[in-house]
Amino acid sequence: MSAKTIAVLTSGGDAPGMNAAIRAVVRSGITSGLRVMGVRRGYNGLLTGDVFEMNLRSVSDIIHRGGTMLYTARSPEFNTPEGVQKAADQCRRLGIDGVVVIGGDGSFRGARDLTGAGIPCIGIPGTIDNDIASSEYTIGFDTAMNTAVQMIDRLRDTTESHDRCSVVEVMGRRCGDLALQTGIAVGATTILVPEVPYDFQKDIIERMQFTQKTGKKHFIIIVAEGVGHVAELADSIEKQTRIETRATVLGHVQRGGSPTLRDRVVASEMGFHAVQLLSEGKSNRVVVMQKSEIIDLDITEALQMTRTFDVELYKIAHKISI
Ligand code: ADP
Repeated sequence: MSAKTIAVLTSGGDAPGMNAAIRAVVRSGITSGLRVMGVRRGYNGLLTGDVFEMNLRSVSDIIHRGGTMLYTARSPEFNTPEGVQKAADQCRRLGIDGVVVIGGDGSFRGARDLTGAGIPCIGIPGTIDNDIASSEYTIGFDTAMNTAVQMIDRLRDTTESHDRCSVVEVMGRRCGDLALQTGIAVGATTILVPEVPYDFQKDIIERMQFTQKTGKKHFIIIVAEGVGHVAELADSIEKQTRIETRATVLGHVQRGGSPTLRDRVVASEMGFHAVQLLSEGKSNRVVVMQKSEIIDLDITEALQMTRTFDVELYKIAHKISI
């Protein structure tokens, strides 16, 4: 059966571009003849019934805004069999017969379970980390990369003025994509990512000393959140090299800001695609990008895929940022 009333929610970590995805879901749902409900604060809103009907104007003036107009949350209660059942019962009570879930892998596990409890769900990847194995791109990644580059460019000015070294932590707990891309873009001497083990002496100290001999006087080391320990790293670097070294954690600024063109466009395409799937009676699918195309996959299969890190690009960074 194809959906007549659909709901949309954002769940887990927020990402710039989620609003553009919500807008696309609402507008393509309504123009396809569906009723569209907005759910506040992720799965929590389904559990508590914090749900409201949306119209074409509910999503006006949000395409350029970061964050999510539906708010987001992590829901420990939903993450139990009883919670999933309760959410499914609430959907039935509210007449919701399909849900679009914008979030990361955790949110997709929830979508899979909710589909299992009888409510067809479609996932859209929204996370700044780009850590979803089934999709080569996730909504928010481009904005986060550009924010990180802008911030590190500012740091570079002061790092250069003082002949210092800056050790900068960017987001990415299990995924080094943000660190790799920004590291290349800012010319980092070394990029540390969770996917590649590193040797402190060889990969940091010796590289710094080598470039110092060629005349370089300031250094930027990019560290993914999953590698961590930037304060300790900065201390150790200063002790060994005698170059004044500062640690900076960019933190949550990377999650905010107006989404870039790419995030707005990809979010719009993915939102449209998700509604089409529900209209066709499909469920338990996740909308992904593969080879630059927007396609959809079974959520359960998508969750079993393993991520590949771009080792070639990592090697290029190593060769040229010296
Ligand atoms: P993200 O979607 O960004 O990966 P989380 O991992 O925090 O974020 O997941 C968001 C929410 O999805 C959780 O708070 C929980 O309610 C739900 N969720 C996560 N894992 C599961 C699971 N295995 N089964 C059911 N729901 C889950």
